[in-house]
Amino acid sequence: MVEMNDTLTLYIEDIQEGGSHYEGDIAPKALDLAVEDLIQSEQPLHYALDATLVSEELLVQGSLQLDLSMRCSRCSVFYPVGVRESAYFFDEQIDETTESVDLTEDMREAIILAFPSYPVCSSDCKGLCPQCGTNKNTNECDCKPPDDVRWAALDGLG
Ligand SMILES: [Zn+2]
Ligand SMILES: [Zn+2]
Repeated sequence: MVEMNDTLTLYIEDIQEGGSHYEGDIAPKALDLAVEDLIQSEQPLHYALDATLVSEELLVQGSLQLDLSMRCSRCSVFYPVGVRESAYFFDEQIDETTESVDLTEDMREAIILAFPSYPVCSSDCKGLCPQCGTNKNTNECDCKPPDDVRWAALDGLG
């Protein structure tokens, strides 16, 4: 069963002795991952987690998956990025007074760490022309590469 929520809260009393599986989606608005001009986030964060109680500890591991759009560092065009954290891990000390543990903020931080630090729409993205700003992936421009001044000076010494 996959449901969309604003948070993921694990209730300690619900966790079975052999562990419990949690799978679902966190609504994009609740995660607030959009960064104006850099990241567009309209899809939910999907989680598939196994939670177990080991003596005084809650252990959670599993995977997180999020589809979003990031602005290419070279050509500035938004492109789809699939971010996956397949080794998500969380643990927290609990005691008899612990009723529930909210994983939302921890999952949010984990998926942010999995974002590409230098997003590029394609490894052969040609980027923008440094002179006129044309997107070289889709358009040609007539700009000539600037002459390297140092070499020009050496030529002059002839
Ligand atoms: Zn690009
Ligand atoms: Zn140009």
